Amino acid sequence: MQDEFIVKGGVETTAKNGAVLIVGGGIAGVQASLDLADSGFKVYLVEKTPSIGGHMAQLDKTFPTNDCSMCILSPKLVAVASHPNIEILTLSEIEEISGVPGNFTVIVKKKARYVDLSKCVACGQCIKKCPIKVDYEFEEQLIKRKAIYIPFPQAVPLCYAIDPEKCIYLTKEKCGNCKTVCPADAVNFEDTDQLLEFAVGSVILAPGLDTFDPTQMGQYGFGRFKNVVTSIQFERIMCSSGPYEGHIKRPGDDKEPIEIAFAQCIGSRDEKIGNLYCSSVCCMYTIKEAIIAKEHQPNIKATIFYIDIRAFGKEFEDYYLRAKKLGIEFVKSKIASVSELPNGDLEVKIDADEGSLTRKFDMVVLSVGLTRCRSSDSLAKVFDIELDEQGFVQSSEFCSIVTSKEGVFACGTFTGPKDIPDTVAEASGAAALASSLIAKKRGELAVRKEYPPEKDVIYERPRIGVFVCHCGTNIGGVVDVPAVVEYASKLPYVEYAGETLYTCSQDTQQKIIDTIKGKNLNRIVVAACSPRTHEPLFRNTIREAGLNEYLFEMANIRDQCSWVHMNEPEKATEKSKDLVRMAVYRAKLLQPLPKQTFSVNSKALVVGGGITGMTAAIELSRQGFESVLVERSERLGGRLNRVRYMMDGRSQREYLDSLIRQVENDSNVEVLKNAHLKDVLGFVGNFVTTIDVAGSEKKIEHGAIIVATGGLDYVPTEYDYGRDNRIIVQSQLEDLIADGKFSARSVVMIQCVGARCPERIYCSKICCIEAVKNAIEIKKRDPNCSVYVLHKDIRTYGLHELDYRKAGELGVQFIRFPDNEDPRVEISSEGLKVNVKDASLENEELFLQADLLVLSVPIVANQDSSELAQLLKVPLSKDGFFLEVHMKLRPVDFATDGIFIAGTAHWPKFSKECVSQAYATVSRAATILSKDTIEGEGIVPSVNECKCTGCGLCVEVCPFRAIEIKDGKACVNEALCKGCGGCVATCPSGAIQQKHLKDEQIIEMIKSAVME
Ligand SMILES: Cc1cc2nc3c(=O)[nH]c(=O)nc-3n(C[C@H](O)[C@H](O)[C@H](O)COP(=O)(O)OP(=O)(O)OC[C@H]3O[C@@H](n4cnc5c(N)ncnc54)[C@H](O)[C@@H]3O)c2cc1C
Repeated sequence: MQDEFIVKGGVETTAKNGAVLIVGGGIAGVQASLDLADSGFKVYLVEKTPSIGGHMAQLDKTFPTNDCSMCILSPKLVAVASHPNIEILTLSEIEEISGVPGNFTVIVKKKARYVDLSKCVACGQCIKKCPIKVDYEFEEQLIKRKAIYIPFPQAVPLCYAIDPEKCIYLTKEKCGNCKTVCPADAVNFEDTDQLLEFAVGSVILAPGLDTFDPTQMGQYGFGRFKNVVTSIQFERIMCSSGPYEGHIKRPGDDKEPIEIAFAQCIGSRDEKIGNLYCSSVCCMYTIKEAIIAKEHQPNIKATIFYIDIRAFGKEFEDYYLRAKKLGIEFVKSKIASVSELPNGDLEVKIDADEGSLTRKFDMVVLSVGLTRCRSSDSLAKVFDIELDEQGFVQSSEFCSIVTSKEGVFACGTFTGPKDIPDTVAEASGAAALASSLIAKKRGELAVRKEYPPEKDVIYERPRIGVFVCHCGTNIGGVVDVPAVVEYASKLPYVEYAGETLYTCSQDTQQKIIDTIKGKNLNRIVVAACSPRTHEPLFRNTIREAGLNEYLFEMANIRDQCSWVHMNEPEKATEKSKDLVRMAVYRAKLLQPLPKQTFSVNSKALVVGGGITGMTAAIELSRQGFESVLVERSERLGGRLNRVRYMMDGRSQREYLDSLIRQVENDSNVEVLKNAHLKDVLGFVGNFVTTIDVAGSEKKIEHGAIIVATGGLDYVPTEYDYGRDNRIIVQSQLEDLIADGKFSARSVVMIQCVGARCPERIYCSKICCIEAVKNAIEIKKRDPNCSVYVLHKDIRTYGLHELDYRKAGELGVQFIRFPDNEDPRVEISSEGLKVNVKDASLENEELFLQADLLVLSVPIVANQDSSELAQLLKVPLSKDGFFLEVHMKLRPVDFATDGIFIAGTAHWPKFSKECVSQAYATVSRAATILSKDTIEGEGIVPSVNECKCTGCGLCVEVCPFRAIEIKDGKACVNEALCKGCGGCVATCPSGAIQQKHLKDEQIIEMIKSAVME
């Protein structure tokens, strides 16, 4: 493996090309493309299906936030499509690659689409006339599609494709209806496959996952019994844009199910079918599916049959507990088989702790595992990379992104099963590594997005356009959208009102632009979903039509109408009209706002000198950026200094020492030890930070901040820890083993000491795996030593499951105790007696004699996190870890621009995951540091000096220190201001007004709200 490659310093010089090839257009490929394109590289994004989006496009909502999956994905897809530095090649696969890192030549086979991308307007005339119906892959075969089709309504590119194997013109020269009816003359039966050649400097492989096909497990009846569905089918069933428009019913007979059984680990953790690993996401997505099913139809009774509930990620345990509170039943046992009753109901045979029993359900959902993607073998062959035994990319102990081939990187579910946030972080990490190899070529092939000149509308009468979104049936299934449009069209100054199926789709952006131009509109209202996720997209769209982006207003008729009033469609429609009216009345008073441009300091500040911080600093250097690395203690390395060996038994020392050497010798990195932050001023691109270095002060100027301050080991107060030297924690056991001082004949480990308890609800993710690691080491050294691991669930997620299995094979005994009955320990001079109830043996009491009691304790948040959070003005989660801006799609970004988070300061995690996140923060920071200038916020306050008394209250409340009193008057530094509005609300004389949210604009809205 290329560990030296990862930690090598300095920018590579051999690169000849500033382009990157990305294979796979799922969320991983999309995220990597955007990061690279935004930081000055050209991207070729190769996707084998007709649209980018991958599996995320199929999901209904996402855990644990319950965000609508398509709603958060769609803006990213549109951003990729409209990015001048990204070329999307759909229906394409890689044929060949040659050359060397920095200078590869790639041959891509682009299959015939038979529909001209540049002509198709996605009007849908063709599908009406196509006589052929085939199974619809995107809808998981629940319904049919036509031989000419778009994969899904928000597909990118939004263009039809003809299925060459099913089209009867292409196979038998019959029909041709689509060509006859196409008004754009886009159908081209003469289209042929093409071989295209590209020069790229590096490659990212993100081909994703496939879901396990349960037809091979005949005992569950999938494929034979219509009411047995897979979890991915259930996602489509629940989805408002899915085949049943979100109405939960059985595919067999349209009956609404009441009792639904969810069967876990179908195709995962299964020796018989050869998938030994845990798929990492199924427990959580099943909990999500059960919760959402109940939200749809509260009478649904969901029962989850499981082996272990693996709720190990950020806020997952809370989500699990919420499901329990909602009445979702959890049964610890595996479903052995399913049989069908004459009425379509299903009888489920369960191998429970108490023996086998049967239960009747209306529907069974098989929680299918994630499997290696179908093209992994062929990709591995073409790119000459090694895969592991389970078919995932063979990676090193410290980095999942590098492959065995230099210049070729991997991310997403291709490197192992994982959820969306981990996929997104790893994708950003891959973007960093792929770009640092060709850093010298940054900007050579990239172009800057140019907008048309801004139209001056200040003296024009308002001409408002209103676009009301159906969002599939998300809004349209409840709100009478045509009625809202009809109503909007009669409001004052409205020149255009229309409805759109998905306002965020690529074709609608063009429609908005065309309508603005065609109708000479100068203010736009979109009534759709949340401004939080979609406002930036629409603002960008109106900019492309030549309008200032602040001439835009959004009414959230999804969250505030169709979602909250889903059972009262008439009232939801009336409320939508009210919200649209309010938006229109405000829109007529909107004014264009200028944005200031600021220069960017390309240096970064990295806080924390553990593996995460050091990796980030080295990677910044490889990208060509200088950094200052601030470490509180006198030694670099952080928590990894206390880790004595890795899972494979090898020491981590060599790696850590080489990392420390490298960072200390890197001329681009200034290492400050015994140092901590005292003050942080400024804003993205232009921070000024005061650092206390061993008692003296140092000021540095920089453009971005990476927070990598790690976490702490919980010091237990439980089990007499600290009072008897036979009671220790896992890290102390590791020391005993590594120092050759381990001599016990019997060891009992207790999991979740100080975790998953009322004081600390969360699961600390790594403790089960730590216990397994140490148990294996003991057994390797002394097979006769008895090792018991007492647990609530063993959470060896992903490929760690193989280690759990190995520990079992070596004779480690795992005993599950009931959630609310922790083991008890009696201490005597003869030894330690552990009393535990075995939940698998109907809570039978067991007494274990131990020489050593080892407590598995969680990682807790750093005590000084809140101080740092205050300095940086960033939030902490309720558990005290740093809180990212969007858990799903921006997992390493803070809400404050230019500040990023990585490692265990964000959440407990392994070093490999810390490293991926470290690279991810560099990738995200590079999107800022690589620019000469950036734009500031337009929504800033203005001070009416005639009214200002200079009282200074605004100065006190401003969290960004953006206001000062000059010559007795408040004065706003627009560069520092974040537009929070605190000063406006505080000003006793009403002298400060927030641009874009002026009193008259708000009052006009309020007046219009009570008008009818
Ligand atoms: C039922 C289910 C529910 C889930 N729910 C959640 C959830 O609620 N929250 C969550 O965080 N995660 C969830 N997940 C996991 C989530 O779907 C994945 O983490 C995520 O989609 C992985 O993204 P990816 O880009 O790595 O892969 P994919 O989404 O699989 O994308 C890979 C893309 O690469 C393309 N491709 C493959 N081979 C090639 C090739 N040779 N050439 C070109 N292109 C290729 C594919 O067509 C695809 O478009 C769920 C998964 C399942 C199965």
